[in-house]
Amino acid sequence: MKLIQQAQIITKGNATEAMDVLFDETQIIKIAKHIDPALAEEVIAAEHKVLLPGLIDVHAHLREPGYAHKETIKSGTAAAAHGGFTTIMAMPNVIPYPDNTETMRAYLEKIKQDALVHVLPYACITKAEASKELSDMEGLSAMGIHAFSDDGVGVATADMMQCAMRKCREVDGIIVAHTEDMRYRLPKACMHEGIRSKELGLTGIPSACEYVQLQRDLKLAAETGCRYHVCHMSAQESVEALRKAKAEGLDVSGEVTAHHLLLNETAVENPNHKMNPPLRREEDRQALIQGLLDGTIDMIANDHAPHSEEEKSRGMEQAPFGIVALETAFPLLYTRFVAQEKIFTLEQLVTWMSEAAAKRFRMERKGALKEGYAADFILVDLDSVKRIDKQEFYSMGKNTPFDGVACKGFVVKTFVDGICVYDNREGLLK
Ligand SMILES: [Zn+2]
Repeated sequence: MKLIQQAQIITKGNATEAMDVLFDETQIIKIAKHIDPALAEEVIAAEHKVLLPGLIDVHAHLREPGYAHKETIKSGTAAAAHGGFTTIMAMPNVIPYPDNTETMRAYLEKIKQDALVHVLPYACITKAEASKELSDMEGLSAMGIHAFSDDGVGVATADMMQCAMRKCREVDGIIVAHTEDMRYRLPKACMHEGIRSKELGLTGIPSACEYVQLQRDLKLAAETGCRYHVCHMSAQESVEALRKAKAEGLDVSGEVTAHHLLLNETAVENPNHKMNPPLRREEDRQALIQGLLDGTIDMIANDHAPHSEEEKSRGMEQAPFGIVALETAFPLLYTRFVAQEKIFTLEQLVTWMSEAAAKRFRMERKGALKEGYAADFILVDLDSVKRIDKQEFYSMGKNTPFDGVACKGFVVKTFVDGICVYDNREGLLK
């Protein structure tokens, strides 16, 4: 057994209390004010740092197999450990697509070999995310995969989505949707259609591109009774649609990314501000914050989307969409919204980045510091200020708009199943 001594644990809001935590590789055994150190083979001094449940991200792109020049399972999960994420859900837009049991089995094997944190892969909703034919939801469900997504693209037609939701309901799964109606996206569109796209003379993506398909999906979720989760909400209208659906009692949820909470369209300067969905108006950003605060939006997810430097140097129109986020999300959100603006409490932020995902995606014994829960947790330094340095990323992707930003809240140690996999003095330990 191991013992962390005198770690600050959140009691309520921003309040913390010093506690000892005894654990082994299977679980947290005891949390108390004082635990006899003679019980443990190893004693770790928390040095007044805050102990949080390991962060959980339901939206990460690990790129492997298929795009290992952008990221690998090894580098992406190293980035997760560095950023405090102990469980991540990997999006299925890789090659070969995990849309059948055979490729899923090989994918799981690769994850088992290479991952430094827990990785739960999504399976595709439709074969090769092509919106033509359903994936083998039954077979995939039988092997323990319950979350289905075609992230990267929307499911193109209502009848295909209806079919997917019916099958998904049958296997008691959850549909996780990137909503994007391509009829609203012109060729070369690369940022939000608004004041900034006009200034830059670039083609914009209107908010309707997202919310029209979300409205469609919510109607289908009502009709089929399927559990449904919408990815990376960016528009005010999307928040309103989800709020209404929840008021009607639908089993639906939503996520927002750190970048959509932190930035609006006026920030757009270069391809490191190019992501899909795009940064939208200030009114949209405010609606997303309000959505989190009133419970319309359930959780914060990363949409960690690494690309090579060469790919991101192709200019706004040609560069691929997406930015990296696993190594910056917590410090950025903590610094801005908890420490500076005081809009969120530490407890709220941690709930949105851990427990909310565990509950919605039915991860057992995860998302909280409780006796009997998995020994997945992180020690965080909420006081020292440091600048984000993309050269320190473990991710192969350096495509961030936040390089050089001064933050608090960097991770000191990350424990996965009771084992320290990252330490800020020694680096990766696994
Ligand atoms: Zn997406």
